[in-house]
Amino acid sequence: MKILILGGTREAREIADIASGERGFEIVSSLAGRVREPVLPIGAVRVGGFGGAEGLRKWLGDNGIDVVIDATHPFAGGITANAAQAAAAAGLPVLHVRRPGWSEQAGDRWIGVPNLAAAAETVAGLGERVFLTIGRQGVAAFAGSQQWFLIRAIDPPEDAVPARHELLLARGPFSVADETALLTDRRIDVLVTKDSGGALTEAKLAAARALALPVVMIERPPLPAGAVQVETIAAAWDWLRQQA
Ligand code: NAP
Repeated sequence: MKILILGGTREAREIADIASGERGFEIVSSLAGRVREPVLPIGAVRVGGFGGAEGLRKWLGDNGIDVVIDATHPFAGGITANAAQAAAAAGLPVLHVRRPGWSEQAGDRWIGVPNLAAAAETVAGLGERVFLTIGRQGVAAFAGSQQWFLIRAIDPPEDAVPARHELLLARGPFSVADETALLTDRRIDVLVTKDSGGALTEAKLAAARALALPVVMIERPPLPAGAVQVETIAAAWDWLRQQA
């Protein structure tokens, strides 16, 4: 069985790791090619867009793919929609693997917003010094803001950025102690994050809780209608074996 794993996440690398060790499974992982030095999965890897849903449908046929695993980031809505559409057109099963989102705990001061524009509007009233930890993409939504921003990303943003900012290039995981020190040192008033979920970057939420800082939490875009979704690697693996 030949599997295309749409990746760019830890979950995608874990699935590639497991499947490559099993007989009867051939895998190809796909990365968008946005990060300069990506952490590569085990096994065959291709890099770059397919050319929309139609390009992906053609690629699936040309490469003899039997099953598609969409393990892209919960906020990568474009490739997820394309995967659903292309797999349906090619008559192939597709599974969407989405790690669970973060859960609010006692002491948290979260403000949920549906998108980046709403986040920029909301954060304007919540303090002068903002920790913007949404990754490189989407920073432009804050470019017109007058506040000061600490922008943390793996690679520098390519689009417009707020006039007053400091850029911090870093890749998780981060510890609660380091995140608390960062928030304190930069005198942060408010955080902005996507509800990405996962352990690698959740320490900032514990640090914000400890310092009683508000967090503007950008909610996830919905999956395509009728999408088959699992939250764990174990569930993805069970599903994969059922397809064999
Ligand atoms: P997106 O908006 O959903 O995708 C935009 C376009 O990029 C897609 O239409 C596709 O181009 C190409 N693309 C995206 N993921 C791809 C993949 N795995 N393999 C081949 N082409 C891909 O995606 P995004 O938000 O820019 O994210 C890009 C990648 O970064 C994803 O793989 C995602 O898992 C990873 N990532 C995203 C975030 C985030 O916050 N969005 C965070 C961490 C990692 P074509 O239409 O030409 O095929």
